[in-house]
Amino acid sequence: MGASDVKVPAAAGHIVRNEDLIFERSRAGRQGYHLPDLGIPEKDISSMIPGELLRDDIEGMPEVSEFEVVRHFTRLSTWNYGVDTGLYPLGSCTMKYNPKINESIARFEGFGKAHPLLPEFLSQGSLEILRQLEDALAEITGLPHISLQPAAGAHGELTAMLAIRACHAKRGHVRKTVLIPDSAHGTNPASAIMCGYEVHGVTSTSAGLLDPADVERNMTEDVAALMLTNPNTLGKFEEEIDKVCEIVHAKGGFVYMDGANMNALMGISRPGDMGVDCMHLNLHKTFSTPHGGGGPGAGPIGVVDELEPYLPNPRVARNADGTLQLNFDRPDSIGRVRAFVGNFGVLVRALAYIYTLGADGLREATETAVLNANYIKHRLEDVYALAYEGSVLHEVVFTDRRQQAFGVKNSDIAKRIIDYGFYPPTMSFPLIAPGAIMIEPTETESREELDLFIDSMRAIAEECEQTPDIVRSAPHRTRMGRFDETAAARKPVLRWQPEKGKVAGA
Ligand SMILES: *Cc1c(COP(=O)(O)O)cnc(C)c1O
Repeated sequence: MGASDVKVPAAAGHIVRNEDLIFERSRAGRQGYHLPDLGIPEKDISSMIPGELLRDDIEGMPEVSEFEVVRHFTRLSTWNYGVDTGLYPLGSCTMKYNPKINESIARFEGFGKAHPLLPEFLSQGSLEILRQLEDALAEITGLPHISLQPAAGAHGELTAMLAIRACHAKRGHVRKTVLIPDSAHGTNPASAIMCGYEVHGVTSTSAGLLDPADVERNMTEDVAALMLTNPNTLGKFEEEIDKVCEIVHAKGGFVYMDGANMNALMGISRPGDMGVDCMHLNLHKTFSTPHGGGGPGAGPIGVVDELEPYLPNPRVARNADGTLQLNFDRPDSIGRVRAFVGNFGVLVRALAYIYTLGADGLREATETAVLNANYIKHRLEDVYALAYEGSVLHEVVFTDRRQQAFGVKNSDIAKRIIDYGFYPPTMSFPLIAPGAIMIEPTETESREELDLFIDSMRAIAEECEQTPDIVRSAPHRTRMGRFDETAAARKPVLRWQPEKGKVAGA
């Protein structure tokens, strides 16, 4: 019997199971639950609910069995990619492994079920967690006062800038401008502007660093603060940070350090010791708490003594008898920036991480993160052009300069790496590196995983030269191909609406 005699059902290979939406699976009358008979007379309670609270426009809801719902959501979960799926080298985002012990501890009944309105005498344990986390972060940053309230990094920036503004106002002159280097994160100018300041740019040197002489030229008594990212968005440490801080202080300004990249410094050097006045941390980066689908996160800030009076209310304070209380009696505070005490569950996870690793472990995490980034740099720099020469800290920025000669852009490379089973690196950021490919491996990846990623990136570099069309038309192995990313961002469709007058699946 020849191969052509084998009867293959016509549709084989074309039936795609389980790909349809829950609405398409709907069949009139299909149900998840059948509740038992009431045993008492049924009563229409709609008459007991005020008319304006009742909706009569709900149509077309899917009618499906429980099993179909389970399959639907389980299937959706497999279409996602996360740190628990594979390497997630998204530069500037520190997508490290989130240890599961943090999850178990955050779910302890005393934490998970604590109500934020519990009186203080019943929430001493939770307050102790906050206090100990503040102390640990103060030790790590070298800044003595920590507020855990901000819910994200950018929120921390805004909070600290509001404190700076309040401090200048108290001194009698709010000042007008904030200096921001071109190597800073994009959220920095946004936060300064939201705070009512004008932003004045400072240009990096050809080495991708700040030039103190340039800061000096731009620094006046109308500058409220210098906001810089350190290590900067090129993954480089600002080597003259102490000099820069002196220049800003001499004119009465503050130095704000974006500490989202603390994964490169933790356990080794402390911004407070460098002369920095305030900073934020991203617990959902450096301290291994989940990034979530856009949240919840935590962006605590640390400040020097001079800025403490302006930190958000309330602050956790220790009474003479050793108990803790929330102190609202702080007249110069900028007020609340978040409900209750912040994202408490996230704070518990971060403290669990810090205690699990200890001081030596945190230092080792940093050293390994830096080693991993430099390993990738070393093994890829002969095929991808570096944005800036020299060694890096926790991340490395390449560009698509060489691949462009073959008509391939960084975004094509990003799509192709998906075919190899990896999440793409950060693309086209930072802006001072055109065609940027920004890779941050983090310390939690094994040598084998890094090698697999490097070999894939090398294979793609070769494809760019030999078969660029394969790269330009990637991805080839995903459910969906290329999206209209602008439309997705500008006109997101976030809510399903039934077609008027139509019942799903009818
Ligand atoms: C991630 C990041 C931010 C913003 O943090 P969010 O928590 O996303 O608001 C700010 N600066 C740098 C350098 C970052 O990497």
